[in-house]
Amino acid sequence: SSQPGASVILPGATLGVLGGGQLGRMFAHAAQSMGYFTAVLDADATSPAGLVSHHHVRSGYEDPQGLAELARLCAAVTTEFENVPAAALNQLALSLPVSPAGASVAIAQDRAAEKAHFVKCGVPCAPYAVIETAEQLAAVNDALLPGILKTARMGYDGKGQVRVKTREELATAWAELGQVACVLEKMLPLAHECSVIVARSRQGAIVNLPVQRNLHREGILAVTEVYAGNLPAAQAEQAIAAAQSVAEGLDYVGVLCVEFFVLESGQLVVNEIAPRPHNSGHYSQNALDVSQFELQVRCMANLPLVQPRQHSAAIMLNLLGDLWFTNSPTAKTPAWDQILALPGCHLHLYGKVDAKRGRKMGHLNITAATPEQVRATALQAAAILG
Ligand code: ADP
Ligand code: MG
Repeated sequence: SSQPGASVILPGATLGVLGGGQLGRMFAHAAQSMGYFTAVLDADATSPAGLVSHHHVRSGYEDPQGLAELARLCAAVTTEFENVPAAALNQLALSLPVSPAGASVAIAQDRAAEKAHFVKCGVPCAPYAVIETAEQLAAVNDALLPGILKTARMGYDGKGQVRVKTREELATAWAELGQVACVLEKMLPLAHECSVIVARSRQGAIVNLPVQRNLHREGILAVTEVYAGNLPAAQAEQAIAAAQSVAEGLDYVGVLCVEFFVLESGQLVVNEIAPRPHNSGHYSQNALDVSQFELQVRCMANLPLVQPRQHSAAIMLNLLGDLWFTNSPTAKTPAWDQILALPGCHLHLYGKVDAKRGRKMGHLNITAATPEQVRATALQAAAILG
């Protein structure tokens, strides 16, 4: 239940984050700009967030000494990585405020628990079956094929997923995935995808970012578009209401992203949740008056939440490591000087030491006064990126 008596943590205190990836780095930037000190726990000496934080505890998530050090340094802790063991969050919660709670993160970490939560909240999701045993595999209803077999745990960016058309392919795919616990989902005819980011306080106040329209390539987010008319208004309202009920059903504290499919029929179907700021919310840094990372800070510090106001039409382009390889043989990085000559282009790079194909290296937030203008600039930027 919510905690009305929790006290405010004012600037000057140290805020901690479990995980040193790009989300932790942008959280640290937001916290620091508000006058907080930051501490990151991540084993990697060159993690994007560790590189910019006041404190870097170099330990694994399960190391009791590392967790104790983080607790000693911080007034409150959050997470940027959804596969942080819930037990680590629960241990920290014994001595300081932790948001989101281990119990919420545990549900987001397991596709079977996540889907059961959607059903409990009355929010429609894709027809599915849990496959943990050979008996459950044999009992799968043919109506779920063609489908996508997804590992229940640890999947991201389309990893841990196999598309299957027949029962034979399903059996082979489950064997290939090592017969771990999986969820088989019916393949749905998608018109498009969207997501909603909500922030919820300990007192139960809830605010949301505008609905994001997302384009994925090969299971990885490629483009997010946020401007008037990006989705039919009725769909957007439905998505916001569904995201709120998913957050309330978890008694969630912090920033939560809820991803949806919009079917060709127009029906809205919830896909998955992320218990943290999300790639599809990065445009908020430049197109809203409050970013998703500032909302994360406000939630954990028990500061008031305010409804973000969008002041610019926005398109976010993800910058994957592939761009470091596909340009001319002489160019080692994309032509940032040409990109930045375009109006309203905001470059965000994560400081990752090496570029790899499919690896998120940064993003480009493009802003403009109108949807037409932002689309025109995004086309120019995409042409330069090649
Ligand atoms: P991840 O954890 O890797 O983001 P998702 O479950 O979101 O995994 O799947 C990645 C992408 O694959 C989705 O954004 C969507 O484009 C596609 N996808 C996943 N499930 C389905 C489905 N049931 N029907 C159609 N497309 C799907
Ligand atoms: Mg996803």
